[in-house]
Amino acid sequence: MITRIPNYFHDFRCLAGACPDTCCGQWEIVVDEAAKARYLAVEGPLGEQIEKALTVIDGEDCMALIDGKCPLLTEDGLCPIVTQLGEDFLSTTCHTHPRFTEIYGGLQETMLSISCPEAARLLLEQEAPLHFVTEIDTVLPEPDDLDADQFDMLLAARQTAFALVQDRSRPLSDRLALLLCFAGRLQNNMEALQICEALCRRYEDRSYQDKQLCRVRRKRRHGSMIRTRQLLTAMEHLTKDFPTALKDLECTDLTPYALQLEQLTVYFLFRWWLKAACNDRLWQQVAATVVSVLTISGLCKPIGSLTEAARLYSKEVEHSQENMTLLRNAMELPMFSLGELLKLLEVHHAV
Ligand code: SF4
Repeated sequence: MITRIPNYFHDFRCLAGACPDTCCGQWEIVVDEAAKARYLAVEGPLGEQIEKALTVIDGEDCMALIDGKCPLLTEDGLCPIVTQLGEDFLSTTCHTHPRFTEIYGGLQETMLSISCPEAARLLLEQEAPLHFVTEIDTVLPEPDDLDADQFDMLLAARQTAFALVQDRSRPLSDRLALLLCFAGRLQNNMEALQICEALCRRYEDRSYQDKQLCRVRRKRRHGSMIRTRQLLTAMEHLTKDFPTALKDLECTDLTPYALQLEQLTVYFLFRWWLKAACNDRLWQQVAATVVSVLTISGLCKPIGSLTEAARLYSKEVEHSQENMTLLRNAMELPMFSLGELLKLLEVHHAV
């Protein structure tokens, strides 16, 4: 099996008791069957504590939250299962968080979710362009029913998308405009792989990129985040902070945080782009990426910091299957068409 991970993956260390926003609360902490059996076999005071904490929510075994937190957490924010029994004793959810893995046959891609403050810090404090490294192990690939040719095309096209987004010689708003145009063209030609390959070559060509930017320049004005605000406000929320901050969501100049927003764009593309191999809806993934990045940028002022805005957005949207479905489906509506999204990428620089 080939595993692809971000370049800073092995630098991650859980902050444990020093974490400003522990992941041991606010959302459902699912306990898998094997972990439940291990937990119920623990004897003594910890065993009794675990047994008391276990509950069932919507048919799933979970830790019951008290005051929004896992009741096992000690006053100094530590998990007694880890301190007394070791990390390997944890349920899969607790053991793997904030690592999220997508498996596509013989390829598995793992990212550190930016809902974790330390993972967000590692991503957003990195100045060098985000890149990915591969590791190979002896685990056999999982069977899949993906179209191999289309999957290879999507992998190659994602590299082109990364290159567009990481071209720091252009303002970020131009790079995102090119990304959207590229994704729109690919989506319209998903069935014709040769055309998609030709599109990759075209979008790698700087003079073609310049022509595209000229072509759409007039469309890039009068943008408003009102539709995005309505969409995100209608979602299910974990905290009050998120809907409160959304009230002040507006279009912002991307320039001051271009570097961090570039990293976020690549982060979301890495997590979502290949999902098109399962549903043919590349536009949904890329439009959702751009909308997410613009939202995080727009929430920076009301929330107070870009890292905090990214962390909260990830926790509220990226970690809810229901919210992600709403977000992706909305990208098919006329209000999130290519023309409408280009309006949000106003030209703030002289050309
Ligand atoms: S959010 Fe991240 S740093 Fe904080 S406790 Fe969870 S894994 Fe550790």
